[in-house]
Amino acid sequence: MATPADVAAFRATQADVVTLALAELADWWQQLLALLTGDVPVAQIETVTADLVAVYGDAAALAAVDWYDELRDQADVRGTFRARMAEPAPREQAAAVARWAVGPLFGAQPDPAKSLEHLSGGVQRLVLQPGRQTIATNVDQDPADARWARVPSGPTTCAFCRLLASRGAVYHSEESAGGLATSFHSLCDCVPTPVWPGEQEPYDVDALVDEYSNARAEAGGNPKAILAQMRKDLGIN
Ligand SMILES: [Zn+2]
Repeated sequence: MATPADVAAFRATQADVVTLALAELADWWQQLLALLTGDVPVAQIETVTADLVAVYGDAAALAAVDWYDELRDQADVRGTFRARMAEPAPREQAAAVARWAVGPLFGAQPDPAKSLEHLSGGVQRLVLQPGRQTIATNVDQDPADARWARVPSGPTTCAFCRLLASRGAVYHSEESAGGLATSFHSLCDCVPTPVWPGEQEPYDVDALVDEYSNARAEAGGNPKAILAQMRKDLGIN
């Protein structure tokens, strides 16, 4: 069973991968700006972003597959199953993030720092994506009836993530279909964590249910109003 320490250790490995990716991105960005004359090389920015996302995304997925296998070995489940790595984020998805991120370079007052900030947020999310996808896909393929929970981690967790975390280990493909369960915003450091039958979630689900119920009692049934109430109650985003 994943312990809070396991989740924290896994989150740290994922954060390290992101740190390396962002350091490489920032170096490259400096060189690009230093050499920039005339038009912004959008196609080149798309390519470099997609390459970074692929290389570091693979590293994130590799760590996730190892983590899945390790936790499953510890779980009291029958049968053998070996997890498989998810593919990196599609190149077109990375290119779309890059095109969006370079927007501030084209304003009346070009803002390269803003562009790098956007690009870094997108790269962070896309580098983590195959790690998260690895957990979700293997939960679905695992014959042992696994589920995953969105485990809050890091210093603060936003209302959206707390609401999804309050449901506990319920997520698998049918439960997630058409919903927001598999979406992760930029800078989200929640950890999708596999849980097998008979295991406990590695965080206090009841406390999150209470937060949600209190907000719902105050705000009524509208999800947006509930989230707004949670933000107000908890002083968070
Ligand atoms: Zn989150």
